[in-house]
Amino acid sequence: TAAVSVRAEISYIMVKPDGVQRGLVGDIISRFERKGYKLTGLKLYQTPREVAEEHYKDLSAKPFYKDLVNYILSGPVVCMVWEGKGVVATARKMIGATNPLASEPGTIRGDFAIEVGRNVIHGSDSPENGEREAALWFKDGLVAWDQTMTPWLKE
Ligand code: ADP
Ligand code: MG
Repeated sequence: TAAVSVRAEISYIMVKPDGVQRGLVGDIISRFERKGYKLTGLKLYQTPREVAEEHYKDLSAKPFYKDLVNYILSGPVVCMVWEGKGVVATARKMIGATNPLASEPGTIRGDFAIEVGRNVIHGSDSPENGEREAALWFKDGLVAWDQTMTPWLKE
């Protein structure tokens, strides 16, 4: 092991209200657990409007922005932070393309969704946004813990 370790990469992953309503939370968590990533934040959450607006502020000029914010506010979401090597890009692959009709089967959106406006899950698009979004949704911070199975996952 390195003498000095930097904090591992994190991604903010969120099951959107349609995924919660449809009972997809367990399957989604299971996929990230089985892949080998470490859960460092988890909550069921009724999103305040200002958090949803801040989260999607880069899309505020888009015609679908208002509907997007209302979709996120339409019911509880499950907020998660997953940590590990390459988690941002790998989670995006596991999630699939934004439009579920373009998502490959085997991805979360490819398996569970049809509509771009009801696409079940969010995942950060860069390590920087992973940090930004984790700080926005988990204002009290994340949970630091040692995953004792780690030696069986890593070389
Ligand atoms: P992603 O979630 O794959 O990173 P974007 O960041 O481009 O995708 O968009 C954020 C979210 O906005 C999407 O997941 C989807 O819920 C919604 N969205 C994107 N494009 C559209 C669209 N054309 N119509 C309706 N909703 C959209
Ligand atoms: Mg995005």
